[in-house]
Amino acid sequence: MRQPSLIKHVPPAEDALAPPGLAARLHHRIARHVPVSPFQAVGVPTVSFSFDDAPVSAATTGAALMEEHDARATFYVAGGLLGVQDLHWRVIGGEDVVDLHARGHEIGCHSHSHVRADSMTGDRIEADILRNRDVLKTLEPSLPLENFAYPFGHANLTWKLRLRRHFRSSRGIWPDVNQGRTDAQYLNAVPLIDRELDEGGIDRAFDRAARGGGWVIFYSHDVAARPSDYGCSPGLLRHALRAAGRFGLRVETVSNALARMSGRISCLWLMLIPLA
Ligand SMILES: [Zn+2]
Repeated sequence: MRQPSLIKHVPPAEDALAPPGLAARLHHRIARHVPVSPFQAVGVPTVSFSFDDAPVSAATTGAALMEEHDARATFYVAGGLLGVQDLHWRVIGGEDVVDLHARGHEIGCHSHSHVRADSMTGDRIEADILRNRDVLKTLEPSLPLENFAYPFGHANLTWKLRLRRHFRSSRGIWPDVNQGRTDAQYLNAVPLIDRELDEGGIDRAFDRAARGGGWVIFYSHDVAARPSDYGCSPGLLRHALRAAGRFGLRVETVSNALARMSGRISCLWLMLIPLA
């Protein structure tokens, strides 16, 4: 039976990038269905909260709300955006990255340039990924930097195979629970974004994870009373944190959740898939 959708069906935000071309969409679809680091996402129902680009409000209001609930989030940071003011928010600076890490939050990686996967090919991909790691490691050498999120959620097989060399996981934005056989280089993520998700959608995701021992990963950006089209209100975040307790879900960073499940990565698949 087809599962009910978790999210609202809304048109793209007004300032969203033009959609990728047909070939890029096809490559993304293939990437979604061809696993390169499969594992079984089963066990204790879990939820992770992630904030892409790390706007200041995510590091202040968002992180404070997480800490009030004795929980920590994962911030996917693009070094090229640090300190930048864009249309919707100001991105945190280097000292804030170090502070979040010191408070127990996880720092993950975007690419440095934050371009969509279809606009970068070949060795430039790896150069961009490594540049981002270098920028962040310069801020704080002890940052583990184990996990990645695709800018704009767009992936292809070339990116997946290159990312596998450097990261334990890569996260997209396909809005579903990670359950059963899952690809660590293409983790699903549900938008914790007021425009796309309501409290009912959160509860449906948690119900699905609680029944099947699955893993919900939320992604968001800014956290504000009037969030951007890409962010969430404190009320929606608070509802998710409270509902996690009600549904019996553990709240963990992506790194900690993955560490618990990594023993289940299928060695057979890893042997069958050659290194890129
Ligand atoms: Zn981003």
